[in-house]
Amino acid sequence: MNQHLKNIGSMERWTIENSVDLYGIRNWGGGYFDISDKGEIVINPTGNDPSHVVSMMDVISGIKERGLGMPILLRLGDILQSRISLLHDSFQTAIDNFGYKGQYRGVFPIKVNQQQQVVEEVTHFGSKYHHGLEAGSKAELIAAISLLKDPEACLICNGYKDEEFIDLGLYAQKMGFKCFFVIEMPSELPMILERAARLNIKPLIGIRIKLSTRAGGHWTESGGDRSIFGLSMTQLIQMVDYLKEKEMIDCLQLLHYHLGSQIPNIRDIRSAVVEACRVYTGLVDEGAPMGYLDIGGGLAVDYDGSHTNFTSSRNYNLAEYCADVIEVIMGTLDDQGIPHPTIISESGRATVAYYSVLLFNIIDVSCFQTLPLPETPAEDTPEMIVNLLDVLHSLTLKNMQECYNDAIYYRDEIRQLFKHGNISLRERITGENIFWHVMKKIAADLSKLKHIPSELEDIENALADIYYGNFSVFQSLPDSWAIDHLFPIMPVHRLNEPPRRNAILADITCDCDGKIDKFIATHNVRKSLPLHDFKLDEDYYLGVFLVGAYQETLGDLHNLLGDTNIVSIQIKQNGDFKFVREIEGDSVSDVLSYVEYDTKAMVVQFRETAEKAVRKGLISPNERQQIMRAYQKGLRGYTYFEK
Ligand SMILES: *Cc1c(COP(=O)(O)O)cnc(C)c1O
Repeated sequence: MNQHLKNIGSMERWTIENSVDLYGIRNWGGGYFDISDKGEIVINPTGNDPSHVVSMMDVISGIKERGLGMPILLRLGDILQSRISLLHDSFQTAIDNFGYKGQYRGVFPIKVNQQQQVVEEVTHFGSKYHHGLEAGSKAELIAAISLLKDPEACLICNGYKDEEFIDLGLYAQKMGFKCFFVIEMPSELPMILERAARLNIKPLIGIRIKLSTRAGGHWTESGGDRSIFGLSMTQLIQMVDYLKEKEMIDCLQLLHYHLGSQIPNIRDIRSAVVEACRVYTGLVDEGAPMGYLDIGGGLAVDYDGSHTNFTSSRNYNLAEYCADVIEVIMGTLDDQGIPHPTIISESGRATVAYYSVLLFNIIDVSCFQTLPLPETPAEDTPEMIVNLLDVLHSLTLKNMQECYNDAIYYRDEIRQLFKHGNISLRERITGENIFWHVMKKIAADLSKLKHIPSELEDIENALADIYYGNFSVFQSLPDSWAIDHLFPIMPVHRLNEPPRRNAILADITCDCDGKIDKFIATHNVRKSLPLHDFKLDEDYYLGVFLVGAYQETLGDLHNLLGDTNIVSIQIKQNGDFKFVREIEGDSVSDVLSYVEYDTKAMVVQFRETAEKAVRKGLISPNERQQIMRAYQKGLRGYTYFEK
């Protein structure tokens, strides 16, 4: 039996502290999430003042009263504000501590969460720090220049640029934005110079380089020599020569690199800064004025709370990150007597991950069940089934692996016999039932073994319940599906009750990939999630946390499940909260129109089908009316499971 279930068995009373440990909420929650005495998750908007917290269940009641259905993406603006402040304050602290002479400027890479509300709030909360934006495409630049108001904030243009992109950036500069063109491809430079000359503007130019530093982790393909982005050192020097030839070297003010996202190891971060500083020094030696060092993104989020260099974690905290960056830059540039640059970082993930929580209800559960075994098998029981029963009765700690192999062998034999018509359906079911009794017994004794054979490790997974959640992995957690990214997932209430079940989660797409069967754990990856008994007449809510970065725009319309409802709340000083925004998710008709259906024509066609049925006498005219109403109501409805 699973270790935690055994612990529950031997425990006098389950307290919220047990839930705190089991789900690790204080390890990954960044101080923003905790458990109340009532056993409910509470939100602490500043991450440190426990006096004004809001219970997630109160938010859910408010959502229900407003008639919005699950799933809900809950945005917590206060947390976003806290993250932006924390980023700037941490850099400022490091700057003060080391006596760094330059400044820090943060920019938010729009691609990390492009939703208008998010970018708007980033610029709003960031305005007092001159927090800027990074645009990787024309569309993002167009969004950026409509939302960014602060002329001191940086506007960084990455990505491949065509003439239109360049003109827009130049106009932005003309209107007073600090807009940098970061060269990603050699061919961009002549075009930028030419368009700038035509508009009579001196462009601000940056260069993105490929570093030889490579980092471990999921998302680090953008770093290293073979990265598809950025200039090689040869191309870099060609750009410098070109700028000199055109007498425009004074435009070159920024050096940029991006090692990849979610860099778990601080050593890689340090080593990238060192390398970039060497290149920066080289550019100053070449006569470029420089002044800005843009260290890209990569600042990681501790999704599993382990504080290690595992891909879903990081072995450093924000203060250490800032201190290391400042220290390394000073250590490298001071030797050469080079003035300290303004440091720009493009932290996306670490800025917005904590900001959103996906809430959903469980709609049903399929429990792992075995039927009781008969006292004595019937006279004419097929031999294979008798053999399987013998396996069950002879199972001990010593012969576990052997019994496991035998059980599988006999079960497969029984299935073969069934296929050839040699045993009945009921006999087959008896066989399968005995098989699962064997598996259950093995699972129960497994933890008594000193060494667990690898083949048996997965048994628990096979015995887990399936909890069906009202959400779509493809739509709301694309990274969970695409790259097995781990997010913290846990119940948002009943945390003062022992979670007696082990489950995997299935979404409502009925697709075999629409499931979550890997969960965070402190020292490894858990294959099932401890959950509470599901009661059909009671709502049971789970939350997926830290989903503010990268999950909202990649989502696809798998099974035509659309965007979820979005609710934003603001938490007041007295611990009260208000709903600041509600965005209704897609209706069925919305998602159909995304895939080019003409829903008006569909209604017309369906009405004709119904009319034909009336003429044939299959339904009455009155029934036709009811059916049409249901059809139209369905089109207007939410794409998820509605109660
Ligand atoms: C994606 C990206 C970022 C954001 O990285 P995070 O790890 O999310 O902070 C920053 N800069 C560039 C160029 C990117 O492509």
